[in-house]
Amino acid sequence: MGYSQLDRPVQYLKGVGPRRAEALATLDIMTARDLLYHVPRRYDDASTVSPIARLDVGMDATVVGRVRSKGVIPTRKGLRIFQAVLQDESGMITVAWPGQPWLDRKLREGDVLLVTGPVRFFHGKQLQPREHTVIARGAQGDEDERRTGTIFVTYPAGEAVPQWVLRGLFERNLDALLTWADDDEYLSPGELQAQRLPGLGEALRRMHRPDTLRDAEVGRRRLAFDELFFLQLVQAQARRRQTELVPGIAHHRTNELIRPLHESLPFQLTEAQARVLREISADMGEERRMNRLLQGDVGSGKTVVALFAMLLAVEGGSQAALMAPTEILAEQHARKLRAMVEPLGLELALLTGSLGAAERRDALEALASGTAKLAVGTHALIQEGVAFRRLGLVVVDEQHRFGVRQRMALADQGDVRPDILIMSATPIPRSLAMTLYGDLDLSVIDELPPGRTPVKTALRTPARRDAVYRFVDEEVAGGRQAYVVYPLVAESEKVDLLAATEEYERLRTEVFPRRRVGLLHGQLASDEKDRVMRAFLAGELDVLVATTVIEVGIDVANATVMVVEHAERFGLSQLHQLRGRVGRGAAESHCILIAEAGADAYERLKVLRDTSDGFAVARADLAIRGQGDLFGSQQHGRELALRFADLMKDEDLLMQAQGAARRLVEADPEIRQADHARIRAHLEARWADRLEMFGVG
Ligand code: ADP
Ligand code: MG
Repeated sequence: MGYSQLDRPVQYLKGVGPRRAEALATLDIMTARDLLYHVPRRYDDASTVSPIARLDVGMDATVVGRVRSKGVIPTRKGLRIFQAVLQDESGMITVAWPGQPWLDRKLREGDVLLVTGPVRFFHGKQLQPREHTVIARGAQGDEDERRTGTIFVTYPAGEAVPQWVLRGLFERNLDALLTWADDDEYLSPGELQAQRLPGLGEALRRMHRPDTLRDAEVGRRRLAFDELFFLQLVQAQARRRQTELVPGIAHHRTNELIRPLHESLPFQLTEAQARVLREISADMGEERRMNRLLQGDVGSGKTVVALFAMLLAVEGGSQAALMAPTEILAEQHARKLRAMVEPLGLELALLTGSLGAAERRDALEALASGTAKLAVGTHALIQEGVAFRRLGLVVVDEQHRFGVRQRMALADQGDVRPDILIMSATPIPRSLAMTLYGDLDLSVIDELPPGRTPVKTALRTPARRDAVYRFVDEEVAGGRQAYVVYPLVAESEKVDLLAATEEYERLRTEVFPRRRVGLLHGQLASDEKDRVMRAFLAGELDVLVATTVIEVGIDVANATVMVVEHAERFGLSQLHQLRGRVGRGAAESHCILIAEAGADAYERLKVLRDTSDGFAVARADLAIRGQGDLFGSQQHGRELALRFADLMKDEDLLMQAQGAARRLVEADPEIRQADHARIRAHLEARWADRLEMFGVG
């Protein structure tokens, strides 16, 4: 970014020497800019900070006061209690920390503390801190006392850099940092006004020294906009490379195949299916290459939509391929699609890794000569030696298994640039989808076909497990099949796997001795996994004990019960995905979540009991777990995680940012114009890893 004062090592700021610089590094603060962007994590104002004189027993309160006296008091039971008397302009109160005598060495008389907790009666009124922060140390605190009644800010701090140190640093350096911040400004006054955002220096001032809570929020929104804008900018560039720069195919629709398919279907497309199909076919009709994500809940009818798109490609003289993450899924797709396309006189080739030599040769020949218009397969589709006569559309099932680069590798074979349609059955909120996949266009099927019986979801405590097993046994006696799912969490994978395996033994020998029970988990060799899954599919197993490997895609219409153990350890969206494995047939299906009662997790699980809409579940997940967790569970999510933007409340900002980014790339594709120099500089200095990640570097 040219050279800015903000690029200087933090060490050269007032009050920072080599040792403190090292300590600041533990908070990822290396440069002056890092310090400036180290913004408060919490704000308290007069509406949350109570005058000490107004505290009443039973209240939960936050106070700010100076330590007047302190000491450690032994009790008869040997417990040592640290106590301090805090004073503000209105009065004094005792604050007690039982069992924390060491605080006596940490806190000094004269320190100003911010303390939150309940007020109890114990030899008089006492505050029992849940949380406390030293916001000013000794004499340095005068400044802060004068600020009582305004807004108290609390920074993310740490052992090496306590709160009061950070506050001291800002006290001495913020004015200078803020003047330097204007060097970073990349939006013109006119643009700032149009976007209704404050300038950078102003935004950061409001965050560090807000006069009101509203002020801090206005500041945050500016930084959130920046974050979203630069991410969208990288994605807009990637989108342009993938779509506009490469010659695509303008598919010509004749309805020769599409009409008969419509007529042969035993149902009407839903509104949502018809809408996304229009989006897809408009896109495919353009010369520009399509790069589109098709999102829809399990069973919302994505595959049918994909088939229409594939036929559109065939009508225009191309071939179309569908790629699935596993062999079983590829076979399943091939079977279903064949049943629909063979009556239309179309040949479909299946290509997987386990074909015999002769079968493989036939499939390859059919694809190369073009007698097979359609192909379904696994990764084997994109291996060496597979050639299509004219591949015009690639459909990728279950996007989250493939990264951005693999996705492109698949579609960049040779010099034909087929359109790309990615299907994902993981509903995520639109704002999260726009953030993770801003380089793709988005089509959403937000409606299920009519007449579906939703899976009945129940919550049970472990105490009722026996009754749950009896229910499973009854279903099996009636000819149905069941899943019992155990969590497998990466950090404790070994222990969990052991637990799942032991439970399997117990279920097989003690609980369901008369039933045929199988075990499926990710550590099995892939042919063994395949064998177990096929046995379940063929009805040779009654109960399948499994980890989350069954999450993706398998379709066993006869399976009507799923029991999930330790349901509290799964995310809501993941559980929703799992329960999509039952309810595939006409019979009523059940999902029984077993979790300890009372805990937060139990409350959270009620969302699943009460709704069967995957997008509603995803929104609840976002609200409860926070976006950090959701990003973390997506491929590349961590790299894209946001610090300032909040996808729950910033959807409008996100739209604004995406609009601005796409307009900019349209006007100045390589971002080379002189008046975009600062934007270019920001991209290169601060977002280089994302440029690399999206292949725009
Ligand atoms: P997804 O791929 O989204 O999980 P599918 O395309 O496999 O969903 O559809 C699930 C089932 O619903 C299939 O049996 C399919 O034939 C059926 N189906 C799809 N669209 C409709 C519709 N509009 N009305 C009724 N049934 C439908
Ligand atoms: Mg096209």
